[in-house]
Amino acid sequence: MPTASEYDRLINNKWKDAQLPEPTEKQAISGAKALWRKATGRAFKGKVEIVKRKNQYTWFKRGTYGQDMVVNPCRYSHGHIEQGWQEIVHSIAHMAHHEQRPSERPHSDHQLNLEAMLTSYALSDKFKKFTS
Ligand SMILES: [Zn+2]
Repeated sequence: MPTASEYDRLINNKWKDAQLPEPTEKQAISGAKALWRKATGRAFKGKVEIVKRKNQYTWFKRGTYGQDMVVNPCRYSHGHIEQGWQEIVHSIAHMAHHEQRPSERPHSDHQLNLEAMLTSYALSDKFKKFTS
């Protein structure tokens, strides 16, 4: 299991430094699709919809497990998950990790590596078209 300091070094500190603004709905949808493609190497086949309920995080849409996705561009900070892009990236890392390694626990070393890779991607110039 990764340690909290690894999460800080590879992920949390990068988000803190970047201070990205909250995504618009359009940015959140197109950015989530790009993140999924980066994480899995494939396009996301299902629908991607916005949710705004305070406590709903980015995840597969209820009742369509593994098919459609809901994205929350402004979920409030809760526990280890920050809001905005960081929440979207963290949740998509969970989703892709679950699909790729269904028998492995969440927050494993593999998931940390995946989330660190997605974090660098989301903060790269390539991703700027979704964030500015
Ligand atoms: Zn988590």
